[in-house]
This record gives sequence, structure tokens and C-alpha cells, in this order.
Amino acid sequence: MMKAVILPGDKRVTVVERDVPEPGPHEVLVRTRASAICRSDMSIYYGTPIVGGEGAGQGPVIPGHEAAGEVVKVGNAVTHVKEGDRVAGYLAVGCGFCEYCLSGYMMLCNQWKCFGFDVHGGDADYFVLPERNCLQLPDELSFRAGAVMTDMVGSQYHVQKQLGVAGGKTVAVFGMGPMGSAAVLIGKAFGARVIAVDVIDHRLEQASSLGADAVINSTTAD
Ligand SMILES: [Zn+2]
Ligand SMILES: [Zn+2]
Repeated sequence: MMKAVILPGDKRVTVVERDVPEPGPHEVLVRTRASAICRSDMSIYYGTPIVGGEGAGQGPVIPGHEAAGEVVKVGNAVTHVKEGDRVAGYLAVGCGFCEYCLSGYMMLCNQWKCFGFDVHGGDADYFVLPERNCLQLPDELSFRAGAVMTDMVGSQYHVQKQLGVAGGKTVAVFGMGPMGSAAVLIGKAFGARVIAVDVIDHRLEQASSLGADAVINSTTAD
């Protein structure tokens, strides 16, 4: 058995016992070492999930869509991931065969399911994901960093890459929550000038410490 955190809605959090899941032929079993809490998890906590069907927000589905850990068991058709690998779990579980899945855009698959909303996520001792959802972590990257890379940081990286953010460009980021803060880091890493906008001063201070070139409190500036 394993322990899992369940968010049954109505601002309740409970710890329950569940069977350790068994990986299917193309899946791996991961021992969870980090599982981040995202703003979207709060929607399950309140009982009004913004992603997922009936299971999310009523307790049956284990939440946690930003998780990382060590592979402890692999299905018999798994070819690229092995026991002992350090991996982060990419949250979009697609069919694996359509043009979107084959190009890496599993979240556009018309059969996609979301880890931690539609299928059991990482807020448990173990989780199962298809092999193709495992992102290998370099040794220098912690499990915690790997977990937040899957969504919070990875989404920002992808957006800015698509936008062609680079040195010589200026990026304005509105909202300095975790996603916005990650956007500051990514923008600076791409070499851009970054302007952070929020209404809370301590969040703007953090944006400065993360490298924002200018900060604007939009309640006091036009
Ligand atoms: Zn998230
Ligand atoms: Zn697909």
C-alpha cells in the first residue's frame, strides 16, 4: 500500500491508503521525490477543477501534475527508461499515435488526459506514467526543480521560445505569481530586458531579486 493525498473538495485535504499502481506494458512506476502544488490544484481543493472530469475534485483521482522521482519498475515494452532513472513526469498523457502526440504536443491530442486531474498524479508515494511522459533529469537538477520544470517553468520556456524572445528584446510579464516569476527567470536566461508588473510590492521585490530589469506596481503607475 502507499499513502496518497486526496483533495475531496470543499477545502478538505485527506491522506488515504491506496494500492501501489502497477505499470502497464508501456508505463513506468516512479517513486515520488517531489510533487509541486500549482494554482490549478487549488481549483480541486475548492471542488471546482479547471481541468479534468468527474474524478477530479471529488476525491477519486490523486492530484499532483508536477511531479518527479526515481523509476522503480518498468513495463515489459518499455525501451528507453530504466529502473533507477531520475525523471520528471510530463503532465499531458496522449494516445501516443496521432500527429500531435508524435510531434510532442500531447496536450493537443483529442484523447489527452491530464496527469493529476483525469489520471492519478504525483501527490502519493508512487505514480505511474507512460514511458514517453518521462523527462530524464540531469544529475545536477534536483527533483524539486525537475517537478516545477514540467509546467510552471516549462510552459514559460516554450512560450518565450515560440515568441522568439532573445537579447535586444523587451518582455513585460503581468502577474508575479509562480508562473510570472518563472517567466522573469526564462526571459533573463534568453537575454531579454524584462519588466515585471504586479499589484503586490513584495512580489515585485522578488521579481527584482530574480533579475527583472524594471518593476511596476500597476496600482500606482499608469
Ligand atoms: Zn501546474
Ligand atoms: Zn494523440
